[in-house]
Amino acid sequence: MDKPTLESFSVDASQPKRSVFYFTMEVALRSDMPTYSGGLGVLAGDTLKSAADLGMPMVGVTMLWRNGYFKQEIDEEGWQKEENAIWDYRNKLRKLPNYARVKIAGKSIRIEVWEYEIVGRTGYTVPVYFLDTNLPENPKSARDLNQYLYGGDEFTRLCQEVVLGIGGIRILRDIGFNNGQVYHLNEGHASLLALELIRERGYNSYDKIKKNCVFTTHTPVAAGHDEFPFELLKKVLHPIYLEHLEGIIGQGHPLNLTRLSHKLSRYVNGVSQMHGKVAREMLDDPEIGAITNGIHLPTWIHPALQELFDEEIGGWQFEPSNFVHAIKIPDEKITRAHSAAKNELLQYVNQTYKTDLKPDVLTIGFARRAATYKRADLLFRDIERLLEIGAGKLQFIYAGKAHPKDKDGKELIHRVIQGAKEVSSDIPVVYLEEYNMDIGAMLTGGCDVWLNNPRRPREASGTSGMKASSNGVLNLSILDGWWIEGYLEGKTGWAIGPNAELADMESYDDSKDADDLYEKLENQVIPTFYEDQTKWTEMMKTSIALVAPYFNTHRMLREYVEYGYRGSL
Ligand SMILES: *Cc1c(COP(=O)(O)O)cnc(C)c1O
Repeated sequence: MDKPTLESFSVDASQPKRSVFYFTMEVALRSDMPTYSGGLGVLAGDTLKSAADLGMPMVGVTMLWRNGYFKQEIDEEGWQKEENAIWDYRNKLRKLPNYARVKIAGKSIRIEVWEYEIVGRTGYTVPVYFLDTNLPENPKSARDLNQYLYGGDEFTRLCQEVVLGIGGIRILRDIGFNNGQVYHLNEGHASLLALELIRERGYNSYDKIKKNCVFTTHTPVAAGHDEFPFELLKKVLHPIYLEHLEGIIGQGHPLNLTRLSHKLSRYVNGVSQMHGKVAREMLDDPEIGAITNGIHLPTWIHPALQELFDEEIGGWQFEPSNFVHAIKIPDEKITRAHSAAKNELLQYVNQTYKTDLKPDVLTIGFARRAATYKRADLLFRDIERLLEIGAGKLQFIYAGKAHPKDKDGKELIHRVIQGAKEVSSDIPVVYLEEYNMDIGAMLTGGCDVWLNNPRRPREASGTSGMKASSNGVLNLSILDGWWIEGYLEGKTGWAIGPNAELADMESYDDSKDADDLYEKLENQVIPTFYEDQTKWTEMMKTSIALVAPYFNTHRMLREYVEYGYRGSL
């Protein structure tokens, strides 16, 4: 490519100026740092990695989860068991000498900080600060705030949000960042930071900090938003903050973090075009924007394909739009690279789970948080029909964790494993333990088809399907989130169910969706895979060429600069 890429610019890595402070409760930077639970953390990690690649003056602020989210095991009967995911943060992160104090529930708490440095492709670095309250001098209740991501009760959660939001700002000040232009709230968890900005600046009205806050909402249903009763706020927050808060949400009202973040931000967005519509309706604000999520392509494309893309496309790590040229890659080269990724996956699964998955069988992957709305068990609604369609022609690999307190999620995993047992002599189905970034990358790189069948409109965006598409793995998915924008029937994959208007988004019918899934498998996916290899390969290339140039975090971040950070860099 003759187009200049970032490689040809030199970015001064020593430049200390930072303008955007990105706050997130979870972040997925590497598989051996279990500080994330799912898509929200993956998006945060990919965003910060793109910032480093693009030389964007950004900083990440998050929490140090000492016991991670959790480590998952699944017993013989198909029930999830949890263990602490203890990790060696002392060797992964660098302790800084900085600290801050915050008063929480009447006690003064010390917060210290660990740094992880993301080194971008040009050498530019983006620091991520992990806040730590597990210090000998803190009371036990404060030390415990750092144990588990999303692990505690309401009280613990609010205290954690004080640490992240208010503590985060104070730590930044102690490190020397005194004049941030933009505070980007990745979900509402850090919204209390706005109260600290108001206090710091001595404002008597909250609209003035509006010009500094940007809020990305990720939750498409009202019930999904954190809400704290007023009594709890009174117990946890310092009276100064409580006073400001009352000025914003009214006295005695519960605190809804989404509404608070919305009120305090100059720019608010949903994470796909459809989710933008949902958010506009939910928050009754026509100004809410939409910036469709993306992925950090170098993190999620399999090495065999990366090598091919280096040869055939070039410069894609800096300029993902170069991926339009994927359409010209010779068929046999794509097929060969995909086979390498697929063999690696099957070998891993066969060795680890003593299974006999076959490289020439159509392999379908399904991995995501085991939340009920994701309907991991939809495939098994009609076992007879599934066997009729797929015996000897299909094999499935599942993965996903249920939140430790989510009984329904655990039952969902159990049901999938029961369904798997029923079909196993004709259709092998393996449920992998411990879904994490590595397993995610292996699955989205090495399956043939990526299945996603959530209840609309619950999938605000979804990103695993983007990982699949960018690896030439075809999506078979409900039309929700990013897939509404990324699908072209029979070209980048296949849709399940209708393309609903906003008004109809919430009407779905499990059995109709299951029927449509079977119908697509029987009449489209299976015949194309086994009888029309040319079309399949063409679809793989189309999928890469149409999805990768757009559904990446480089493009996404450039949109945030244009619409959210406008004039602040
Ligand atoms: C990509 C990824 C996710 C997010 O994928 P969704 O499509 O949003 O479910 C969650 N967990 C892991 C480990 C991932 O790699």
